[in-house]
Amino acid sequence: MARYDYDLFTIGAGSGGVRASRLTAMGGARVAVAEEDRIGGTCVIRGCIPKKLFVYASEYAQGFKDAVGFGWTVEWARFDWATLRDNVQAEVSRLSGIYAANLEKAGVETIPDRAEIVGPNTVRLAASGRTLTAERILVATGGAVVRPDIKGAEYAITSNEAFHLERLPERAIVVGGGYIALEFAHVFHGLGVHTTLVHRGQMVLRGFDEDVRGHVQAEMKRSGIDVLTETMITEIAPAGDGYVVKLSNGQVLETGLVMFAIGRMPNTDGLGLEEVGVRRTDVGAIAVDQWSQTSVPSIFAIGDVTNRVNLTPVAIREAVAFHRTVYQGIPTAMDHTQIPTAVFGLPQVGVVGLTETEARIRFGPVDIYKTSFRPMKHILAKNEERMLMKLVVRASDDVVLGVHLAGPDAPEMIQLAAIAVKAGLTKSQWDDTVALHPTAAEELVLLKEKAEPSAAV
Ligand code: NDP
Repeated sequence: MARYDYDLFTIGAGSGGVRASRLTAMGGARVAVAEEDRIGGTCVIRGCIPKKLFVYASEYAQGFKDAVGFGWTVEWARFDWATLRDNVQAEVSRLSGIYAANLEKAGVETIPDRAEIVGPNTVRLAASGRTLTAERILVATGGAVVRPDIKGAEYAITSNEAFHLERLPERAIVVGGGYIALEFAHVFHGLGVHTTLVHRGQMVLRGFDEDVRGHVQAEMKRSGIDVLTETMITEIAPAGDGYVVKLSNGQVLETGLVMFAIGRMPNTDGLGLEEVGVRRTDVGAIAVDQWSQTSVPSIFAIGDVTNRVNLTPVAIREAVAFHRTVYQGIPTAMDHTQIPTAVFGLPQVGVVGLTETEARIRFGPVDIYKTSFRPMKHILAKNEERMLMKLVVRASDDVVLGVHLAGPDAPEMIQLAAIAVKAGLTKSQWDDTVALHPTAAEELVLLKEKAEPSAAV
């Protein structure tokens, strides 16, 4: 008789947990995954996928405006929130079903319950009370939204609820200056909601290249989003159909909705980590080594709960690396450098590699190449949106260390640019590539003049 009920017990059926469970089961191991919510995790259920569908929906508004310059008359455009919301939820359910079916096909037992760790090889299921054992436990519980501690915070929503709104408000306030805040400000604005972004810092997108931050903030304002910086919400109170919101700058705003997007934290509450001695970092993430192994040798962790780079494709790669290391005997450490990332806001942002500031700190002299232009598609449309492109190049050997794009299709472009950055190609190798005309992306291989360093560096 086997010593344990399972070879691997995974907690959390999100992107990372599903991938690790499937691969391991397909290799012949006995695997179970516990999930207290729907299968698919944040990305599929309340993150990347439904968000991107909302972004597509919101971009039609500008598309209809732009169409006029190309000869179209668009008089019939009407937006119905319930149709979008319900269609998106139907797609989310379809995808969740595919994830569940794939787990089943791989031979993974899916347990619809919350699991808590009660020993190095033991979990207890919260609802059924059953106790199960496994040779290894993999924690892939992702992240959870952060809520602020202010008066009336309970009246605000987070991205979790944004996908299910009964109706769209006329006015919305989005708090934060990161990925989720910018993406939802763009979504609400595009769908016709008068949108105000309230950000505590001077500039949105902390950690991004300074030129990108400046460009994004200016474009958001130009597009009609009210951007209030160095401002915090101090109180929310219900008033009529909506809310009255007090700001730290003394302003009082009326709104139909307040959404907080002020960060996410590792989802470790009540998991039993302290009791079994799993060490955590100072921000509460599960501390792991390069093999995703925790301080308890039989317990591993991947994805956002480890707070390394909190992106879906990273969690999936960490899952693959875990599987190869532990079950295939091929020690594989995830490389967390040069990971492309995108913000699907207005403008869209796509970046990979080092910012100008980071590159100077790490390598000394760098050459900067940058351009800002109105994409051809915008000219007839009289759309004033500009595109920013910036390359950060190490002066000593001409290697392109960072690419920073903001404007239409930047996320699509950056995926391909990331191959060149990951491969360590030089600026002259980029320049050897013949431009593809007429595109916006061709500018990336036509940047000739060195630019002055960014003022903020
Ligand atoms: P981010 O960490 O990106 O941004 C949080 C924002 O909230 C920052 O602007 C921060 O300001 C601000 N903030 C933090 N605490 C407070 C506070 N107490 N009061 C007011 N403002 C505050 O978090 P998000 O919630 O936007 O997203 C979480 C993570 O999810 C992202 O970091 C990313 O890893 C992932 N994600 C990725 C997406 C993608 O790939 N497209 C999309 C959505 C999410 P400051 O800058 O001053 O710290």
